[in-house]
Amino acid sequence: MVDYKCKWHGNHLVKIGRFYPSSKLCSNCDHKHVDLKISDREWTCPDCGTRHDRNKNAATNLNVEGKRVLREERNVTIINPSTGGAPGCHAPGDRVRPVTTRAVVDEGRTHAL
Ligand SMILES: [Zn+2]
Repeated sequence: MVDYKCKWHGNHLVKIGRFYPSSKLCSNCDHKHVDLKISDREWTCPDCGTRHDRNKNAATNLNVEGKRVLREERNVTIINPSTGGAPGCHAPGDRVRPVTTRAVVDEGRTHAL
C-alpha cells in the first residue's frame, strides 16, 4: 500500500535493509555505537559529544540513507521546490525525479530518453 501511494504522489519508496544500524550510527559524525542496548533511549556520541534521542537519530539516519540509495543506486535527483529545484538540496516530503530523464531535440521533435 505504501508503494502504490508513493507512486500515486510521484515519490519513491526506498526499503532499507534490516541490518542497517540506523540507531547505532551517530547522525552527526557517523560513529557506530556498537554497545547501544535496546533499553538505551538516549545516548551521547563518544566521538563528537552529540546527545541523541534514539528514535530521532534513527529517523535522521534512515532519511539520509534513503536519499543516498535514490541518488547513488537509482540515479535519482532530489528536487526541493524551496531551493528552486537545486539537486542535492532536499527535505522530508520532497519530490524527486530520475536523473536519466532528459529531452533530446532530434530533427525538430522532442524525445524523452
Ligand atoms: Zn558523533
